[in-house]
This record gives sequence, C-alpha cells and structure tokens, in this order.
Amino acid sequence: MDILILAVVIALVAVGAISGLVVSSRKKKQLPPPAPPSTPTITAPPAEPQMGEDAVETAEEPRRTIEEVGLPEAAAPAPAPVAEPEAPAAPEIEVPEPTAGRLVRLRARLARSQNSLGKGLLTLLSREHLDEDTWEEIEETLLVADVGVVPTQELVDRLRERVKVLGTRTPADLRALLKEELLTLVGTDFDRVVKTESGEDTPGVIMVVGVNGTGKTTTTGKLARVLVADGRSVVLGAADTFRAAAADQLQTWGERVGARTVRGPEGGDPASIAYDAVKEGIAEGADVVLIDTAGRLHTKTGLMDELGKVKRVVEKHGPLDEILLVLDATTGQNGLTQARVFAEVVDITGIVLTKLDGTAKGGIVVAVQRELGVPVKLIGLGEGPDDLAPFEPEAFVDALIGD
Ligand code: GDP
Repeated sequence: MDILILAVVIALVAVGAISGLVVSSRKKKQLPPPAPPSTPTITAPPAEPQMGEDAVETAEEPRRTIEEVGLPEAAAPAPAPVAEPEAPAAPEIEVPEPTAGRLVRLRARLARSQNSLGKGLLTLLSREHLDEDTWEEIEETLLVADVGVVPTQELVDRLRERVKVLGTRTPADLRALLKEELLTLVGTDFDRVVKTESGEDTPGVIMVVGVNGTGKTTTTGKLARVLVADGRSVVLGAADTFRAAAADQLQTWGERVGARTVRGPEGGDPASIAYDAVKEGIAEGADVVLIDTAGRLHTKTGLMDELGKVKRVVEKHGPLDEILLVLDATTGQNGLTQARVFAEVVDITGIVLTKLDGTAKGGIVVAVQRELGVPVKLIGLGEGPDDLAPFEPEAFVDALIGD
C-alpha cells in the first residue's frame, strides 16, 4: 500500500514538473520581442502632446547590457533593447527649459564674448590719470563694440561729467557708475515682452523676418520652444519657401516640442502658407502662430512685395501681433543696413539679436534700438535649442561688466 501511495506521489510530481516545464517554455516562446515603436506616417505631432513622457527620460539613461544588469543569460527572456538599434524611434516630445533666468544661465557666454567692452571700459576708467588719450581709448572701445557714433559720444560725455563730480574713484564707485550709464544707454523703459496674445479668441500671430543666414529659422524654432516652455501651444508656418531646407528644419524644431508645422511645396507661395498656418492655428485653438518668412534681399521692391503680401494675407484673419526682425550681431554695420531696409518694408515691433555668443560687438544692442526705435526682445547666445533668452537689460549689463 505504502509503495502504491509512493508511486502515485512520484507520478504526480513528475506530471507537475513536466507541465511546469511546458508552461515555462511556452512562456519563453510567448515572450514577444520588444515591440518596435510605431512609425508615424504623418509629419505633424500628436494633437495633444504629453509633455515629459517617459520616453524622454529613458532616452537619456545609458542602456545596460544583460551582464551589467546581472541577469543570468538563461533568464534573459528576449534580446535586450540594445540589440535593436535600427528600430525607428517615435518622435519624442521634449520639455524645453523654462525661460525665466535663461539670460542668467547664459551670462557666462555673454560675459566671455563681451569681455573687451564692459571690463575694458572699467579698466580704462580705473586708470590713475584720466587723460585725453584714455578718453579716446574709451571712445574707441565703444565704437569697436558697435555702440554707434552718437550713443558713444553721449556716453563718453556723461562719463566725463560724472567722473569729475565723483572726485575720488573707488572701484565700487566706478562699477556702479558705469552700470548705471550703460543701463541708461541700453534702455530700461522699453516694453520687451514678445506679444503673443491677440486679445481676441484667435491665436496671437508673430511673423519672423530677416535676411537668410541670420538665424531666422533657428530663432523661429527656438521661439516655439520658449513659448511651449511658457505653457503656450504653437503652430508653425514654414513660409520660407525659397531656401530648400528651411521647411524641414522648422518642422523638426516643431516636432521636438509638439508643434504642428504648416508647409507647402518648395518654391510655393509664402503668403498662402502663412494664411493656412493661421487658419490651422484658429482651427486647433492654438495660442500662437509663428510664421517664418524668406529673407532674400534681392531688391527692396521684391522683398517689399513678398513680405507685404504675406502680411496682408495673414491680416485677413486679424492683425499681426508681432513682427520680429532677426539680426546677426556679428554683421555690424551690415546688420544695421539690413535693419533699415526691413523697417521700410514692414513695421518691425521687436528685434532678435542672434550670435551674441560669437562676437564682442554687444554694442549693436544700443545701435539697432536707436536706429529703429524698437526694442531688442530676445537674444541668441548659442546653437543649442534653449540658447535663446528674453533680453533683460540689467542681466545684460551685469554680464558686460561682471560682478
Ligand atoms: P536662416 O537662413 O536665417 O533661417 O538661418 P538658420 O536659422 O538656418 O541659421 C544659420 C546658422 O546660424 C545655423 O548654423 C544656426 O545654428 C546658427 N545660429 C543661429 N542662432 C545662433 C546663435 O545665437 N548663436 C550661434 N553661435 N549660432 C546661431
């Protein structure tokens, strides 16, 4: 009897073990290979992008091999994700950096490039004897930094007068004095807020103009990030149909932050794309529509015709809220000439100065504001996606002369 019971127990255990093996081997077989991420066939991002999706975070985590994770090879259910580098990646929605304090973050970059302006002035003013030669050097420093003839003269006159009144010059006095005078020159009264609200139920519409090569498309893309960072939804209009890669470039910027791009055929009519972009913005209930335009300075009449038409057509939907002129800070006088031409063609409401990281000519901020009577609203300080900062006079001047 005992033997019989033992035999039954052994038989049951054996059946259990076999069925377990079958199940576990089935389990192994059933383990699906890592599902390839879905490939978007549409170029536009999802209508309601989920900011901060996991994908963003995991993408930055170094992938570990099975050995590193410490799993015995037999337990590895399927090839690790690293084995499939070819899998097409779903578009990842990035979370742009907040805009507040961006200029402070980028201050070192600005300070490095503008060393000769701010610190140079401070060194000269600290000389024991402020003779005529020194004042000439001060003047030259300002002119070389593209401050412009008239503002330079004004500043030198003010400094001469105030230094005389000051009598003894401690480094702290001089720094405070220079900071105050530079701030006056840069201007603290301008409204530098980029206007993004129409005041109606429709999106705010911003047109971005400027000569090709100044960083116009990049700036439009970066501005989309600035707006998204501030919680706005954005539609982009790729109305630069002249430069072949511009629409692709803009669309890539848009996809990164979940902004739809309206585009047309290469060489197509920029005005109709701009019109469609605003229409799309209205249909989507977007907060802001950003329109990139072509900046061929072929002839003034040509430019006027093109930009004028874009503007007129867009305004069928409602008035434009901003026309931002993008200027490359490294181009000096040339940039000012461009600014003049554009200002004759359209009513510029704000200036974006790009590439301030690559030039010592920060004085262009002063010169261009004087030239157009329009404030610098944003500055570009690098090629990184979040290297566009709202222009804050105080942080700017602080960066020039250091703490
Ligand atoms: P567009 O023809 O005016 O649209 O010019 P793009 O937007 O294509 O920009 C031209 C080049 O300028 C690109 O290589 C950009 O990365 C670069 N660029 C734009 N803004 C800045 C900036 O603030 N700093 C630096 N260093 N490069 C910039």
